[in-house]
Amino acid sequence: MGASVSSAEALGEIEAPIFQTAAFGYASAEEMADVFAGRAPGHVYTRLSNPTTLALERRLTAAEDGIGALATASGMAAIAATTLGLLRPGDEIVAAKGIFGGAVSFFRNVLGRLNIRAVFVDGADTALVEASVTVRTRAIFVETIGNPGMDVPDLPALGRLARARNIPLIVDSTLTTPELVRPGEHGAALVVHSTSKFINGHGTAIGGAVIDTGRFDWSRGPFEDVAAIARRAGAHAFLAHLRLVIARDLGGCPAPQSSFLMLQGLDTLSLRLKVHCENALALARALTDDPRVAAVGYPGLASSPHFERAQRLFGGRAGAVLTLRLGSLARAFAFINALRSARRVANLGETHTLVIHPASTIFREYQPEDRLSLGVSDDLVRVSVGLEPFPVILADFQQALASAEKE
Ligand SMILES: *Cc1c(COP(=O)(O)O)cnc(C)c1O
Repeated sequence: MGASVSSAEALGEIEAPIFQTAAFGYASAEEMADVFAGRAPGHVYTRLSNPTTLALERRLTAAEDGIGALATASGMAAIAATTLGLLRPGDEIVAAKGIFGGAVSFFRNVLGRLNIRAVFVDGADTALVEASVTVRTRAIFVETIGNPGMDVPDLPALGRLARARNIPLIVDSTLTTPELVRPGEHGAALVVHSTSKFINGHGTAIGGAVIDTGRFDWSRGPFEDVAAIARRAGAHAFLAHLRLVIARDLGGCPAPQSSFLMLQGLDTLSLRLKVHCENALALARALTDDPRVAAVGYPGLASSPHFERAQRLFGGRAGAVLTLRLGSLARAFAFINALRSARRVANLGETHTLVIHPASTIFREYQPEDRLSLGVSDDLVRVSVGLEPFPVILADFQQALASAEKE
């Protein structure tokens, strides 16, 4: 798959070289002016584009069956660029509750300061989403599987709703990756990823991306500046708008080394996801039957209200993140502290099993009622199930549950 990334000096390399350079030099002022203006191919400055990052963008575009992608410094940078590229003061965005805490905070605190209103609703309830769309709504934002809500929105129904209202559906597919679902096939206009998670897979870099699926007609959308570009750039208008204005000026570009690590992760994504999902399902099933666990949140369990939708959308798999309710904050902490093999880490999608207590960390700044309405109770533990042999994971969880019982 090693697409040649340097037209000038390809040496038959089969992996993407790391172009560890801030800028690119030109022989003449004319040549440089042409590249700057997009009249000639090439790269100018790594904040704008870099061959290693371009190789990653091509791979992600192919994986999502999209028309193009923009890689960013983090998943948050992808969400920021995407929403800031669409929304203006006075606009609204309807977002699912129970999504990533950083996205909730960004919508409230950053978009909120710009007088862009985020309306949070149960994203799995399409009728509620529909009822929340007003004449000011300019986008709908959901996660394929809510992190940590563990809910699964009805992507095809939301895709139809967005199409009927002529607004883009933005889908964060970090927990599913293109291995489980291509949201564009269900009507998403834009797919965002935190590539820091399963795509990198080893917890070695932070990155993000936005992929345009080609399903939204920017020339007819409610975004005047993008529509103007669409008259020149056609279907690539939104990505051009991001690349040439929004993301360029925000400055959240990926480091070339990180893009390389994401490319390396993509090579094994399919294999890793297979084991991640199998381990998660086995753990979810084992813990559902355990009286020491008050509740297991995992859309792969037949008892989950999201089971059927997850099966339909994700081809029989449900990802590798699950949540446990342990009855009280004290027991949740005791359980987390007693784990020996699993790590206490604010990440997910790594080879190791990771746990975190969302209420005291990612959702720490919210009022308790607010946290509850986002699905984050004090006794909730989020687990990212790793690639260890399943008996190792299970034994670790069982001994930690036994230890927490003593609380
Ligand atoms: C982690 C995460 C993000 C943010 O990504 P970063 O790379 O940490 O900035 C966004 N969405 C989801 C679902 C995530 O899990």
